[in-house]
Amino acid sequence: MNSVNKADVIVVGAGPAGISAAIEVARGAKKVLLIERAQYAGSKNMYGGAVYTSALKEIFKDDFNSIPYERVINSHTWAFLTDTGSFEMTYKNDDSTSSYAIKRFNLEKWMIEKAKEAGVYYIPNTLVTNLLLKDGAVIGVKTENEEYFASVTILADGVNSLLSRQINLRNNYEPKDIILSVKEAIKLDKKTIEERFNLKDDCKNGVNKQYFGTGFGNLKNVKNLFMMSFLYTFKDTVMVGVGANLADLTKNKLNLNQILDEVKKHPDISPLIKDGETIEYSAHLIPEGGYNKMPKLYSSGVIIAGDAAGFINSVHFEGTNFALISGKLAGETVLAAFENNDFSDRSLSLYRKKLEKSFILKDLYSYRNVIDKLYSRSNSLSVYYPKKIRELFEIITSANCISKAQQMRAYISSFFKDRNIVELFKDAFAFIKCGLDVFFGK
Ligand SMILES: Cc1cc2nc3c(=O)[nH]c(=O)nc-3n(C[C@H](O)[C@H](O)[C@H](O)COP(=O)(O)OP(=O)(O)OC[C@H]3O[C@@H](n4cnc5c(N)ncnc54)[C@H](O)[C@@H]3O)c2cc1C
Repeated sequence: MNSVNKADVIVVGAGPAGISAAIEVARGAKKVLLIERAQYAGSKNMYGGAVYTSALKEIFKDDFNSIPYERVINSHTWAFLTDTGSFEMTYKNDDSTSSYAIKRFNLEKWMIEKAKEAGVYYIPNTLVTNLLLKDGAVIGVKTENEEYFASVTILADGVNSLLSRQINLRNNYEPKDIILSVKEAIKLDKKTIEERFNLKDDCKNGVNKQYFGTGFGNLKNVKNLFMMSFLYTFKDTVMVGVGANLADLTKNKLNLNQILDEVKKHPDISPLIKDGETIEYSAHLIPEGGYNKMPKLYSSGVIIAGDAAGFINSVHFEGTNFALISGKLAGETVLAAFENNDFSDRSLSLYRKKLEKSFILKDLYSYRNVIDKLYSRSNSLSVYYPKKIRELFEIITSANCISKAQQMRAYISSFFKDRNIVELFKDAFAFIKCGLDVFFGK
């Protein structure tokens, strides 16, 4: 056997989870191979646009200051879209540096350099096709041309994680547990972006907008579709995208590219991207099964991290931080296994304990029912309440020779006329249940 093909640890996938895991192992003076199918790490990865900085600081310490971000995202807007406008809520804090807009290609490129400096052997352009097994334990991986052997293999191969399915670690997700998302990168010059979004010209300001609601354009008559759209400002590009779950898209026979076109035409969004040139179009899946669909996270000789394990909190657009920290915890677990020279299922169960102590399993547990509840009330959230909010603000912002008291009474009684009271109770129950789960979480 070629000595190059033998390592202490193999990590599959050079996304945030894999790179972070490999760095942790290399820092513990173990030989680690990081195998990535893409020619350039990050080129096959896609996300909305902002990385939460706390996880990066925890892993990269002082090096964090050289990260190639494009803007600090410190203005966050949540908007309900109606047919003619929107209801928006914005939180802006110029001092906040908790999230950065970074292109994935640049993020992964920078992290790979740091990994190499830490001693990681990086093998790009190489697809892992199979796991190698002996007596039920994973002993390495097979690529198209080679076999590589190690005491532990960390699977950080992203949302589809075909490899963890090979050893039945991952339950197959149902269509309702997967979000399909498409995104366009729209080029505009830096000055135009700063004028349109009221930003300072030093990239210390940036905007993230999250949009809810389907009651506009061609989507107006679509029922049972819960979708979220988003917009992020980069230095000289604006990212606009939309995501919806596969079950809703299939049931409604909807094409997400057409939905994105509708979103881009919305009167609140189109002026922000006017005259921009689409320079990139990408699509990706997001695992949304959460805590209830979490796979067994380890087995003899193998650990799963990041999206492969379904570590995402899509309510808050958090994924890269879950990936980075789960990778780090996977690395720590492996180092502890080396100290005991024990790579068994029992030894690697330390990984789950570490995750339970971290925000990762605490948050996943607290949010375990939220997504299902939101989907179950999709008509309310996407159509009914945006419409009622618009009607309320029409009353507040216009004078039409009818007393406000009369208008408010009519408005409140319309809730019960427009909608079956049972549905209103179901909405209330769902929202209260989600709130209580999160409030009384771990
Ligand atoms: C539309 C969208 C918006 C998002 N927005 C945000 C956001 O704003 N903020 C945020 O924090 N998160 C966001 N996320 C989530 C975030 O992108 C992911 O959670 C994160 O990338 C997961 O990292 P990972 O390392 O687990 O997986 P990935 O980043 O998917 O990396 C997996 C890597 O494994 C490689 N690979 C796969 N199979 C193999 C194989 N067999 N052999 C070799 N290599 C392989 C892939 O090429 C890839 O490089 C978003 C996701 C999407 C889709």
